[in-house]
Amino acid sequence: MTTHNFEAETGKVLELLTHSIYSNKEIFLRELISNANDAIDKARIKSLTDTNYLWEDSEFSIKLERNEENNTLVIEDNGVGMTEDELHKNLGTIAKSGTKDFIEKLQKAKENADNNLIGQFGVGFYSAFMVADKVEVETKSNDSEKSFKWVSDGKSAYEVSEGTKTTRGTKLTLFIDEANVELIQEWKIRELIKKYSNYVALPISMEVEEKDEEGKVTGSKIEQLNDMKSIWTKSKTSVSKEEYTEFYKTLSMDFKEPLSHIHNNVEWIVSYKSLLYIPKEKNMFVNMDDPNKEFGPKLYVKNVLILENCKDLFPVWMRFLHGVVETSDIPLNVSRELLQSHTTLEKIKKGLVKKVIAELKKNMKNNSENYDVFLKNYSNLIKEGIYYESENREEIAGLVKFDTLDGKTLSLDEYIEQLADKEKKEIYFIAGKSKAEVLASPYLAQFKENNVDVLLFTEPVDHFVLQVLNEFAGHKMVSATSDEVKLKEKTEEETKKEEELKKDFSDFLELSKNTIGSDIIEKVELNENLGSALGALKTPTNGIDPQMEKMMKAMWQEVPTQKRILELNPNNSLVSAMKSEFTKDLKSEKLSEMMKYAYNQAVLLEWGEIDNMPEFINTLNKFAGEYIK
Ligand code: ADP
Repeated sequence: MTTHNFEAETGKVLELLTHSIYSNKEIFLRELISNANDAIDKARIKSLTDTNYLWEDSEFSIKLERNEENNTLVIEDNGVGMTEDELHKNLGTIAKSGTKDFIEKLQKAKENADNNLIGQFGVGFYSAFMVADKVEVETKSNDSEKSFKWVSDGKSAYEVSEGTKTTRGTKLTLFIDEANVELIQEWKIRELIKKYSNYVALPISMEVEEKDEEGKVTGSKIEQLNDMKSIWTKSKTSVSKEEYTEFYKTLSMDFKEPLSHIHNNVEWIVSYKSLLYIPKEKNMFVNMDDPNKEFGPKLYVKNVLILENCKDLFPVWMRFLHGVVETSDIPLNVSRELLQSHTTLEKIKKGLVKKVIAELKKNMKNNSENYDVFLKNYSNLIKEGIYYESENREEIAGLVKFDTLDGKTLSLDEYIEQLADKEKKEIYFIAGKSKAEVLASPYLAQFKENNVDVLLFTEPVDHFVLQVLNEFAGHKMVSATSDEVKLKEKTEEETKKEEELKKDFSDFLELSKNTIGSDIIEKVELNENLGSALGALKTPTNGIDPQMEKMMKAMWQEVPTQKRILELNPNNSLVSAMKSEFTKDLKSEKLSEMMKYAYNQAVLLEWGEIDNMPEFINTLNKFAGEYIK
């Protein structure tokens, strides 16, 4: 028997790993099964060219054996095994490539309590020491007559001696430490296999208790613990609709059918298999509004579950999806992972985003009834996508629908189609806090009159959409309250009349502005398109929209108060009355009170509140007094 010290740095890593840093101890089994799986893969490959390689032992499998009396767990495979040299090389060092780098990263992760970083990828064989105070490895390779036994407490040294194993493969015995004995109870092992290794493509078997109908133990039997079936690795045609739905339910905890699934096998710059589901109904178990919600597909590497939710594979707005991604382009080994995985994940992510957008588009077209239910539940997330996903912005914008002035619900494309009949090019919208509020806007009067529809942007997220979406498919987005609105060409006569009206009103408007205060208002203008309203507030071109201003203020952002334009309707009787009063006595107390009132009612209409409420009520009461006389 010979004793060997671990490579200097290995000792440090072991200490870090086994103490405090790794909160999720239960992944040890996944790691060891993954190693067994790899060893069997290697044996399978060798047997392809060497017909004598397997001998009698050709049924590949992984066997587990628990012993609660000794607190041991055995994991045995009939893979390639190791020679004495390989034992030293493979189990005497850790994270062979870039060990130093690895330690630094581990240390940093520990300081930041960033368990997730380490938790993401395998730590391999050494994870055994997170749960065991001693590990024995008996192994035999076809390349060696003898078998060898490696024993260590995972601290500073390991011993190697000749072993007694006669068959090819590796047998690990973990001497589970006191604190972790729970991990080898039968139910726990079953749970861990189901959770992490269910889709390993080899049978993982164990002796389990046999029970009668009443649950009494009557004996024992060997049972295969994993399903081996991974539906995403199958071809699309061999999976039934029921199977797809069942799998969705286990992934999402949703008990309803999904909207659709996207099943792909990609062999391109990166190779991966993916099965993603788009839900239809709201899921009562997941709060989509929660910004800390776990999201992202399960990530499998070589049949082994690496990460329950791989956030790096989805942009945040796609958090409504459920699914699985499997790739062999990411090594299980942690150190190499930290250097490489990100570019691979980034590439896969790009591909997934494109596929999801295409699938949504397809459903919008061919499965519209269900798609509308989906939109009702998830359109806010798609709208987030419009905001964040600059690369695919227009395509994503094409996936949502808006309520309209005409009482329809239209996508941007449908809206444009409808406009084409009227030979209009602009996409008109009105933004506000609620449907009721925007529908009360005086600015919609001329749209109703001219029978031009307007999209209603009333969700908080819509204001973010408006920030980034200035046009769609070559059509400019124009606010219904903007100067740019021109629904019909004016006749020469109308233009002339307007000019005269402007001239006639110009002093009146100037006085109105000064009375209200040029520090709070930019100017006062006439607008004949306000229906029967007295007046309304308009945001100057390129100014901050009132809803946006409110939201930014609510988020404590520094925002200057936007000065707005008061528009008065010359066809309104109160405006005419003011104008007559102006001609009679421009210094009249009444006139100045009326001008302030005209401004305040416009503010109230736009914002739902005004600063000086008592003054406003006072004026109203005076009017009421006149009315009742
Ligand atoms: P990784 O598997 O990421 O390379 P590990 O620390 O888990 O890192 O294992 C180190 C090496 O030990 C493996 O690369 C493999 O060569 C060898 N090894 C581990 N487990 C087994 C096994 N069950 N059978 C054969 N070789 C193994």
